[in-house]
Amino acid sequence: MKDIIKLHDKKFKIMIPAEKIDEAVTAVADRINADYAGCPTPLFVGVLNGSFMFMSDLIKKIDFNNELSFVKLASYEGTSSTGEVKSLIGLNGSIEGRHVIVVEDIVDTGESIEHMMRDLQARRPASVEVCTLFFKPGSYRKQVPIKYRAMEIGNEFIVGYGLDYDQLGRSLKDIYVVTE
Ligand code: 5GP
Ligand code: MG
Ligand code: MG
Repeated sequence: MKDIIKLHDKKFKIMIPAEKIDEAVTAVADRINADYAGCPTPLFVGVLNGSFMFMSDLIKKIDFNNELSFVKLASYEGTSSTGEVKSLIGLNGSIEGRHVIVVEDIVDTGESIEHMMRDLQARRPASVEVCTLFFKPGSYRKQVPIKYRAMEIGNEFIVGYGLDYDQLGRSLKDIYVVTE
């Protein structure tokens, strides 16, 4: 692993090595395994693109029968006063009565997850919980409960393990943080 990398105009330094990420993923998978034991076929819903690597590693550690799907949050300019509208695309089929676990790369302000939860709740699942790889407690300002947080970080910008800086850095197996 390199200590310093350059992506576009910025330098990043190593912050969390792959082994530490794996430990955190195992710990959160263990909690989910305990909480959903005996639950009728839960559905994991990953939010693309950022969650692809986390989902891949998390799901291998899940020990109950499950289904898996991916969605995207598409942004466009709405006509409402709040401006931006985000809609969930790619979820085919009913989730009514299902136990859903949303898999996210990172929850920052909570804006994205709030939109996502509003859409999912309207489809009347039996339950929905959020499992995020990273949570930023210092910038979160929504009420949606984030039950599963593999790791918490400060208000800093990170890349790697699925997370990008303007599309670069997703393939890195370690997490890097922006410097200077
Ligand atoms: P929120 O809607 O919670 O403010 O932000 C969620 C989205 O912002 C994430 O899905 C991600 O795309 C982006 N984001 C927030 N913080 C970071 C970060 O530290 N690194 C990267 N790469 N993306 C981030
Ligand atoms: Mg995300
Ligand atoms: Mg991004």
